[in-house]
Amino acid sequence: MFSVAGKSVLITGGSKGIGRGIASVFAEAGANVAVAARSVADLDAAVSELDGVADGKVVGVTADVSDPESCAQMATAVVDAFGGIDVVCANAGIFPESSLSTMTPDELTKVLDVNVKGTVYSVQACIPSLKKSGRGRVILTSSITGPITGYPGWSHYGASKAAQLGFMRSAAIELAPHGITVNAILPGNIVTGGLADMGEDYLAGMARAIPAGALGTPADIGYLAAFLASDEAGYITGQSIAVDGGQVLPESLEAVAP
Ligand code: NAP
Repeated sequence: MFSVAGKSVLITGGSKGIGRGIASVFAEAGANVAVAARSVADLDAAVSELDGVADGKVVGVTADVSDPESCAQMATAVVDAFGGIDVVCANAGIFPESSLSTMTPDELTKVLDVNVKGTVYSVQACIPSLKKSGRGRVILTSSITGPITGYPGWSHYGASKAAQLGFMRSAAIELAPHGITVNAILPGNIVTGGLADMGEDYLAGMARAIPAGALGTPADIGYLAAFLASDEAGYITGQSIAVDGGQVLPESLEAVAP
């Protein structure tokens, strides 16, 4: 039905987890894929795995999205590698736990720097290329946490993920005249290394609360990203779509009791 073959795609946080899943879907679909993150070792591992499934080119770019200079260099590196950028998936994010009662200003700043400012800087750096593309796509990885739900210990994170949607709506209006769409994916609980660190009990409890009966996979997020990146999705902008197996739907635990 739709194709992303030949598109040049930048995925921040593409070395691991959801970003790597998004990168795999695009690579298998024939896009040129750039994955960006801070750890060179993780980038190298991702690039060699993606090379195995890719029809197009794959590059790794070292970048810290909380630093605007680094984001500018990241965008330049992708343009140098592929000749342009058609799609930016602003996916890099952190989710350290911190109770509201004891959260330090530094903990709050760190989450907002990566998740909110990092989103804005990543998108800003790509705007000239997205305008040139004429069919530019911005795809944000937000979360159900913040925009729809809450969870104790993640108030700063929830605020950052809701902030991404506020950014999205105005950015979508500003960029629409250039043929650029801006949309957000709201993952539920997706099995990644970062989430696995929360422990078996957390994962099992979450699975019980999901009508679909299981946590999602990074590829589940990648499939929606690929559609939003397609030419056929060009009339969809400023929207947020949950990919969560129905996790936000139950009114009570009884609603999902076996
Ligand atoms: P993850 O497995 O921990 O991967 C995070 C990725 O972001 C890594 O590639 C990491 O690489 C990169 N990153 C972190 N800080 C960065 C920075 N300052 N600059 C550049 N890259 C940075 O996390 P994940 O679970 O895949 O989460 C990815 C996104 O999905 C986040 O935005 C998260 O909020 C969102 N999300 C996840 C879930 C879930 O269930 N997993 C649910 C809802 C939303 P380096 O550390 O090497 O930089």
